Amino acid sequence: YGTKASLQKEDSTTEGNSFKGHDMLAPFTAGWQSNDLDPLVIEKSEGSYVYDINGKKYLDALAGLWCTSLGGNEPRLVAAATEQLNKLPFYHSFWNRTTKPSLDLAKELLETFTASKMAKAFFTNSGSEANDTQVKLVWYYNNALGRPNKKKFIARAKSYHGSTLITASLSGLPALHQKFDLPAPFVRHTDCPHYWRYHLPGETEEEFSTRLAINLENLILKEGPETIAAFIAEPVMGAGGVIPPPATYFDKIQAVVKKYDILFIADEVICAFGRLGTMYGSDKFNIKPDLVSVAKALSSGYLPIGAVMVSPEVSDVIDSQSSKLGSFSHGFTYSGHPVACAVAIETLKIYKERNILDQVNRIAPKFQGGVKAFSDSPIIGEIRGTGLILGTEFVDNKSPNDPFPPEWGVGAYFGAQCEKEGMLVRVAGDNIMMSPPFIMSPEEVDELISKYGKALKATEERVKELKSQ
Ligand code: PMP
Repeated sequence: YGTKASLQKEDSTTEGNSFKGHDMLAPFTAGWQSNDLDPLVIEKSEGSYVYDINGKKYLDALAGLWCTSLGGNEPRLVAAATEQLNKLPFYHSFWNRTTKPSLDLAKELLETFTASKMAKAFFTNSGSEANDTQVKLVWYYNNALGRPNKKKFIARAKSYHGSTLITASLSGLPALHQKFDLPAPFVRHTDCPHYWRYHLPGETEEEFSTRLAINLENLILKEGPETIAAFIAEPVMGAGGVIPPPATYFDKIQAVVKKYDILFIADEVICAFGRLGTMYGSDKFNIKPDLVSVAKALSSGYLPIGAVMVSPEVSDVIDSQSSKLGSFSHGFTYSGHPVACAVAIETLKIYKERNILDQVNRIAPKFQGGVKAFSDSPIIGEIRGTGLILGTEFVDNKSPNDPFPPEWGVGAYFGAQCEKEGMLVRVAGDNIMMSPPFIMSPEEVDELISKYGKALKATEERVKELKSQ
């Protein structure tokens, strides 16, 4: 996202290979970037590292795109894929035909979720398709219950739920809406629960959460509770800048949602499988959802797969009404793709065998403590996160109300410095995000902290220079 100035970075990969003006219409990339700058072309991965086409090594502090939880070359996942490819590379799951890996994965996946009861799993190829499926499930459910007007969705400002038409609509990021005639008319957005940025003077976190719950209730009452079908939330907001919920937030929000018979959808696409130090974000924040979306770390990012988990209440209605409404006419050619399912089954097995939660909780304090130690930097407003996810927000005067001029490109400069040091992070304006692989060693966490520190120092110098001009 962002302006040309805020996205500008140094050209870092021109030695040898140049792909300027390549033929790909690249996701979340500006045309001028593809045309004027060389893309960073990643060729190989190994543990917590990736290598570009010129052989430069980078610590992958974002785990690909928040997904390669088991790092870059887990041989068991490669073996699982190879075995399945040799046996049955493809068969579908339509019309009551299916494959053994998809049946097995559904069972295994449902067992991992214990925050509330889940009865069925539906497979997709991505997080976007999972959330898109949620909307159709909820509408089917309310049609089955004879409530044709209960169709609106409430999501939150700064949320990210995907980039299909419907999931971009749910997302609360203006950049996903402005150019595409979105959001769709059935979507409403409520407050972003970012305490540091939005609390009133003197307001505690608990009071802030109470105010947001009251605002949500007022929105529901204004729209008419009989028109609101579902509320969707990421346990920790990811792409919006890594925003953990303030104290008591989900308790209060869930009480409101329940009061008006609104379904709660937990978008666990980033948080699931251990990133927060618990199996799910729902476990960490005592969320009891009716529907859950997962993707990314389900296969450690090795193959595209996502899933929706459905509570018995919703699943029973869908099942019992199917003679009236007909089949659940929704699905993708690759729903439950046997190779992706085989890799996901092996991924879940590895999480269990290697006690992945213990591993995350062993390195998380070092990661959190080491990076948060830079919070005093004069250009940092806030460093926030939990487990293996962290966001850094650059502002002037340590104030959420004093952003740096976008044309200074402070976040982009920091990102470019990380790249120069040999580390990849996510940059969105002046927000920096990190979500390293679960398998990082303590030494690699030290390396991450050291590279972050060097990039920060260079960025502080840069800001000083810009201020003096
Ligand atoms: N939900 C959340 C919380 C996400 O972070 C993402 C992707 N970053 C999605 C949904 C969409 O997933 P995908 O890119 O696989 O469609």
